[in-house]
Amino acid sequence: MNRSPLGQSTPDLVVVGGGIAGMLAARRAAGRGASVVIVEAGDRLGGMICRADLGGLPIDIGAEAFATRGGAFAALLHELGMHDDIVEPRALGSWVVTDATAAPMPAGGMLGIPGEAALRDVESRAAVHAAIGDEGIAELERDRTLDPRVGADASDLESLVLARMGPTVLGRLVAPVTRGVYSLDPAELDHRVLIPGLAERVHEHGSLSAAVAALRKSAPPGAAVRTVEGGMHRVVARLEHELAELGVDVRLSTRVASVLEDGSALEQAWRVELEGAGSLFAKRILSTVAVPRSVSARGDDSEGPSGEAVAIGGAAAVPAEVVALLVQAPQLDAHPRGTGVLVGDPSTTIRAKALTHVTAKWAWQEAAADGMHVLRLSYGPHARGGSEPLTHSLSDDETTELARGDAGRLLGTTIEREDVIAMARHVWRIPAPAARIGRSAELRGARDEARRTAGVALAGTWIDGTGLASVIPGVLRAVDELFPEDAQA
Ligand SMILES: Cc1cc2nc3c(=O)[nH]c(=O)nc-3n(C[C@H](O)[C@H](O)[C@H](O)COP(=O)(O)OP(=O)(O)OC[C@H]3O[C@@H](n4cnc5c(N)ncnc54)[C@H](O)[C@@H]3O)c2cc1C
Repeated sequence: MNRSPLGQSTPDLVVVGGGIAGMLAARRAAGRGASVVIVEAGDRLGGMICRADLGGLPIDIGAEAFATRGGAFAALLHELGMHDDIVEPRALGSWVVTDATAAPMPAGGMLGIPGEAALRDVESRAAVHAAIGDEGIAELERDRTLDPRVGADASDLESLVLARMGPTVLGRLVAPVTRGVYSLDPAELDHRVLIPGLAERVHEHGSLSAAVAALRKSAPPGAAVRTVEGGMHRVVARLEHELAELGVDVRLSTRVASVLEDGSALEQAWRVELEGAGSLFAKRILSTVAVPRSVSARGDDSEGPSGEAVAIGGAAAVPAEVVALLVQAPQLDAHPRGTGVLVGDPSTTIRAKALTHVTAKWAWQEAAADGMHVLRLSYGPHARGGSEPLTHSLSDDETTELARGDAGRLLGTTIEREDVIAMARHVWRIPAPAARIGRSAELRGARDEARRTAGVALAGTWIDGTGLASVIPGVLRAVDELFPEDAQA
């Protein structure tokens, strides 16, 4: 390692954030001979891939699966020697439940918007009718009679669905999916970013349901998911082991406050300001989180060299709490609601936004025991834009009560207090997706700024998108920018 002007060691790379993106970045750069430091604010590596203990059973309390789209995560598992551990979910489908209805989610749609096959034959029509009733069917028929230009000027998903279909399709099918997947309402999502080309297809094919059908045909959605037997958290444990072998320096419980260009170094260097822990020098920076904008240190440097602050994006996070229950409920052996349930409008008696029946979805989880089931519920904020999940102020006992009641209503059964063997909970702050209204322009700004700044690269879910299928290729690209394969570190 080189020496900085202050006499500290200067690693080739400092990675900000030790989630899967930071771990993979460090692994790839160190594999090319670079000296690497990971700075992680939390007390463990892995970020949103996280193990929890549920009454002695190890479970994933963050990401519990990966989309097969693009093949990047499967390729990683191959490299890690874990390819044989990839398992498929049971093909049971999911349900959508409101205060008064419970029905399987109609197949063949996109983001809950039914494709035109929904009305094609008696059987499909009956399946859709169970979910949205006469009003919903009338809304689907309306879409087919409207001029293709209706809704063309809508940018958010809610306006488009309301313009062409109506409130029943919106509230019972589309909102449950966007809330379940993004923790956002359709009104907060830009369909042009979420499903590029949707509006153009409406114009071309004559209706929204035909547009959905055409898009599904031309690019089957990345609905296929897999997991790792034993839990996704095993991947983090394996990577942690590899990082140790590669000599990567991991600094846990250390938060990066800002990144400053170091004006006094002989060669280009960066000063990474750590909250309450001094600073660290680096030749290159890879940030997997939005580092808060700092005040320029130029002219204010009694303790160190002067510098120029680099703003690495803006942080816009959506809060969600995952509550996992281990229950003794043999009536769930029949998997009454498939792999899980999304919550539609109106749902005044149900506070969760989604439930995954983990032991129904993943056969390997049945290792639990006869009649024992793992349920994962997620809770968003009280109101749109809220900064805390609605479970925020509840004690563990109150949270267990809420989740037990919701789980019973969602699964069409009763789960008594004494049936609950264990509860685990975790609050997540998930970076707003690019499809949130206005977010893609902010992210473009962050990317442009980083592109203009040599020695800085961005990766991770906050900039590359929600989900591992987007995160992994982004990390590989970012490391390749900083350390081209044929160049020396
Ligand atoms: C409940 C839940 C379910 C999910 N389900 C799926 C799924 O089924 N399939 C799928 O593909 N994806 C899923 N995801 C998304 C997936 O987990 C993420 O896209 C991915 O793990 C993000 O990795 P990352 O490294 O980019 O970010 P993170 O995992 O968020 O890592 C960032 C790290 O940076 C640290 N940090 C933050 N600020 C600082 C700072 N200033 N200084 C130092 N460190 C800092 C954080 O503590 C964190 O450890 C899910 C996510 C959640 C929360």
